Amino acid sequence: RSGTPIRRSQSKDFDDDNDPGRVRVSVRVRPRNGEELVSDADFADLVELQPEIKRLKLRKNNWNSESYKFDEVFTDTASQKRVYEGVAKPVVEGVLSGYNGTIMAYGQTGTGKTYTVGKIGKDDAAERGIMVRALEDILQNASSASVSVEISYLQLYMETIQDLLAPEKSNISINEDAKTGEVSVPGATVVNIQDLDHFLQVLQVGETNRHAANTKMNTESSRSHAILTVYVRQAVNEKTEKAKPESLGDKGIPRVRKSKLLIVDLAGSERINKSGTDGHLIEEAKFINLSLTSLGKCINALAEGSSHIPTRDSKLTRLLRDSFGGSARTSLIITIGPSARYHAETTSTIMFGQRAMKIVNMVKLKEEFDYESLCRKLETQVDHLTAEVER
Ligand code: ADP
Ligand code: MG
Repeated sequence: RSGTPIRRSQSKDFDDDNDPGRVRVSVRVRPRNGEELVSDADFADLVELQPEIKRLKLRKNNWNSESYKFDEVFTDTASQKRVYEGVAKPVVEGVLSGYNGTIMAYGQTGTGKTYTVGKIGKDDAAERGIMVRALEDILQNASSASVSVEISYLQLYMETIQDLLAPEKSNISINEDAKTGEVSVPGATVVNIQDLDHFLQVLQVGETNRHAANTKMNTESSRSHAILTVYVRQAVNEKTEKAKPESLGDKGIPRVRKSKLLIVDLAGSERINKSGTDGHLIEEAKFINLSLTSLGKCINALAEGSSHIPTRDSKLTRLLRDSFGGSARTSLIITIGPSARYHAETTSTIMFGQRAMKIVNMVKLKEEFDYESLCRKLETQVDHLTAEVER
């Protein structure tokens, strides 16, 4: 057995202290498709999943393998429900209690990002992905009249933002509030969501528009990022509110929490083929990758605790500025294919996920005094007093 490689395992652990500020990173492997079922490349030779201990063992070369810890490890039999609960639920709960949040899917094209995040599941509710389940959760918990739920749905392709709910609007710009650092997209269509059926319809419109836009631009959806933003606005109920240490407190002024959730289906992480002899093609490839490359740089900077995070380099990182790495809760799901053929891409995706695990955010409650509502309250009081004086 002299030819048998000796595999040495190493392990690297991170502090798993349930810090809500640490970026959650989970990994999911897609089931084999028909072609992969008959192919001879043995995935088990490359990756070994250990979901019980939330580890993944990756073979580095003939002699070494390394074991990596994730927040969740999902095998190809994990249900959409379980993935939602492990990946998205903690972030959605944060949004409901007034913190911004981001959920992102990262991985090579064809590994299940859109399935995980954007699947509508028209005929089978069990198939529903994170976007639908998140809205279901938010709408259920936000049933009172003092809560509003609005969404926008955008596509980012070659540093141009398109409105998936109004395709005639293109090249929408991003606004950053100099004082608060809050990011907004003033030109984007915002839809007030009434119930889950309404959301499913809107999401379907978005998906149809995404498909049409990509056909028109003669590109694949794998080249663009899709970004769903959910705006949740809720009045703070003084009576039921459990005092949060960061809360502005009850000073007799009504308060409102405005939090948002970004759910991002990222462009494929694979390198774009630059083999074209045409110089234009190479430029285009760089441009297509700009946002993803820039996200990688920001993740590295955040993971290293650097004081400068280069968020201004791309539209994606500008959009994520107040929802990722800053004051928000973040969860990343990395998706990998089940074939050993994509060794390089799978390895690079896993390393991306490991770097993101080192990021610790400073979560911040998005609460402010509701002066509009205070004014209305005072006006009524003044009316009452005037009436009384006149009596
Ligand atoms: P990506 O968005 O990363 O390019 P997709 O989500 O489009 O990949 O997935 C590629 C194909 O694999 C699709 O046909 C999708 O339905 C299927 N697929 C992906 N993940 C799963 C899964 N966990 N279970 C069943 N089918 C899946
Ligand atoms: Mg996709």
